[in-house]
Amino acid sequence: MGDISNLSFSKTAFWVQIHDIPIMCMNRRTVKWLAEQIGKVIEIPTESRDCWGKYLRVKVLIDISRPLKRWLRLKLDKSDNIVVVGLKYERLPEFCYTCGRVGHSISVCPDEEAKIEAVEGPSTKFGSWMRASLSEKSKVKYQSQGSGGSSVKERSIEDSRDFGKAGRST
Ligand SMILES: [Zn+2]
Repeated sequence: MGDISNLSFSKTAFWVQIHDIPIMCMNRRTVKWLAEQIGKVIEIPTESRDCWGKYLRVKVLIDISRPLKRWLRLKLDKSDNIVVVGLKYERLPEFCYTCGRVGHSISVCPDEEAKIEAVEGPSTKFGSWMRASLSEKSKVKYQSQGSGGSSVKERSIEDSRDFGKAGRST
């Protein structure tokens, strides 16, 4: 762990979003523990409390010579249930959907084994879904007070109006 000469070699700081955390697990200790599974913790903003039920953000230093983590297992305290939480990376630079490493694209991936697996497997392990969209972040903030019920109602009214038009024209 302490080999300083290897540090900073291929490490990059990322804001990582941790999704799907059960609300009862969202205490600061758990968040810190999760962040430590991803990399070296740089920052855990206190305002991550605002995102309860959606996701929270942590800033960690990640070793990008290794595949990016896609999820973490979280063991709940009082039971043997294991919850899988998803990870998304903000401002993720070019990364390889084949081997999950940052800095090159699929076409130049040096990892032949991962390439074969990606071609023959049912789907690639990595993908654009690992990029956190920043617009999603602002949307979450905007909706954090509401239940979201009103937008569903609006949409259904619009749908029925369209449906009525289509019915008349045929
Ligand atoms: Zn690759």
